[in-house]
Amino acid sequence: MARGDGKLSHDLLPGEKGPQDACGVFGVFAPGEDVSKLTYYGLYALQHRGQESAGIATSDGSQIMVYKDMGLVSQVFDEASLEALQGHIAIGHTRYATTGGSVWSNAQPTLGPRHEGTVALAHNGNLVNTEELLTIIEQRHEPPRSGELARGNTTDTALVTALLNSEGSLADSLREVMPLLRGAYCFTLMDETALYAARDPQGIRPLVLGRLERGWVVASETAALDICGASFVREVAPGEMIVVDEQGLHSEQVVEPRPKGCVFEYVYLARPDTRIAGRSVNESRAEMGRQLAREHPVEADLVIPTPESGTPAAIGYAQESDIPYGQGMVKNAYVGRTFIQPSQTIRQLGIRLKLNPLREVIAGKRLVVVDDSIVRGNTQRAVVRMLREAGAAEVHVRISSPPVRWPCFYGIDFASRAELIANGLGIEEIARSLGADSLGYISEEGMIAATNQPEEALCTACFSGKYPVTLPEHVARAQGILQARESEPIAAEKDA
Ligand code: SF4
Repeated sequence: MARGDGKLSHDLLPGEKGPQDACGVFGVFAPGEDVSKLTYYGLYALQHRGQESAGIATSDGSQIMVYKDMGLVSQVFDEASLEALQGHIAIGHTRYATTGGSVWSNAQPTLGPRHEGTVALAHNGNLVNTEELLTIIEQRHEPPRSGELARGNTTDTALVTALLNSEGSLADSLREVMPLLRGAYCFTLMDETALYAARDPQGIRPLVLGRLERGWVVASETAALDICGASFVREVAPGEMIVVDEQGLHSEQVVEPRPKGCVFEYVYLARPDTRIAGRSVNESRAEMGRQLAREHPVEADLVIPTPESGTPAAIGYAQESDIPYGQGMVKNAYVGRTFIQPSQTIRQLGIRLKLNPLREVIAGKRLVVVDDSIVRGNTQRAVVRMLREAGAAEVHVRISSPPVRWPCFYGIDFASRAELIANGLGIEEIARSLGADSLGYISEEGMIAATNQPEEALCTACFSGKYPVTLPEHVARAQGILQARESEPIAAEKDA
């Protein structure tokens, strides 16, 4: 059932999407624990990764039950639905649609038949070789469109669910399927008797393993371990498969690792209280702000964030520059994604639905406004205008990531290449377009240094155009990537 009310969103301007996360996944194996409630809380902690649909699958050792619907975790589940999800194994999913539309039939976990038993699957990431996978399914299966595909599921996750329908154990199927997949995947999956987790060889999206007193947890972010009382054990390694069953936890390196973690998780996507590769996301963002101040200093009276995503970097900028930090705008967190669009007469209110300036803080001040990224530029243009109307003497925009010039094919929905403001304009032109007195982006080197990770272990493709997993030619051509990089190969490294 589609819900017409508040799908809350990070977006500040009606119709102007910021970068959208691909999904959050969770899994738990814990005999004697209320696994559906643990998964519910885990998904709550991962709500920022996807707000379109939510679902949980459980097994009691002999039967899998799935409950999923469109909406936020708190809208989809209540006491009665969680009570019905019995068992000691569970997986969960919060979805933002990157492949396939935002409809019930594409919600996860998916459910598929196997030669023996059933598989339920939750996926964070985006695969780039879906046509190749569909061809394999058509060659192997008769009829090819059964299970999720026959029910109208149009996602890459449905293709993987179909591929897992093979002989042998689910572990055998994963061993066979993982090497076929190209792109980003963090899976939590289950059959009737065991919990599984798997991560792509690049480890593009995060996935961590946690320990409960009576079981194990896997989740997209450490924040989801914290909320259900699990202690952090380690990251699921790129290319690794984990199986948890009555005999305990088993691990296997199925595909050779070639780490390329998404740098944008540090910039914006992950929760600030999450740790990735041992590094606090909040500290990374604050350091990006400090570096931004070193690279782009300016005489000003006050540093303010674009709430909430710019806050840690703005604090870092203020620390390094010795300019006071303040809150210059208040954000209404309760405006939904699907609220009624303003009529023409009140359209100019635009961003006021989400943000309101604090005039007494802003008036007469030379402001530094810190944000995490610029995609199309419409939000920052509206913010600059709003601050000027509230009496700001000067508005200097500082961005804690480099210009976004390339689309993401690994699970983050930015915009098409043509829509990205930095794709066609230089820095001065962007500053003029935003109406800002000055504009400064952090350098790629500065951003990478703030993550404490070596450059070769990170994906930076949306900034650099160096895609770590080769894109099918028709995809690259459709986005103008081949044309733009005719003198250079589109992939920095081959993925085969
Ligand atoms: S292209 Fe950008 S957003 Fe996508 S995985 Fe790479 S760094 Fe992350």
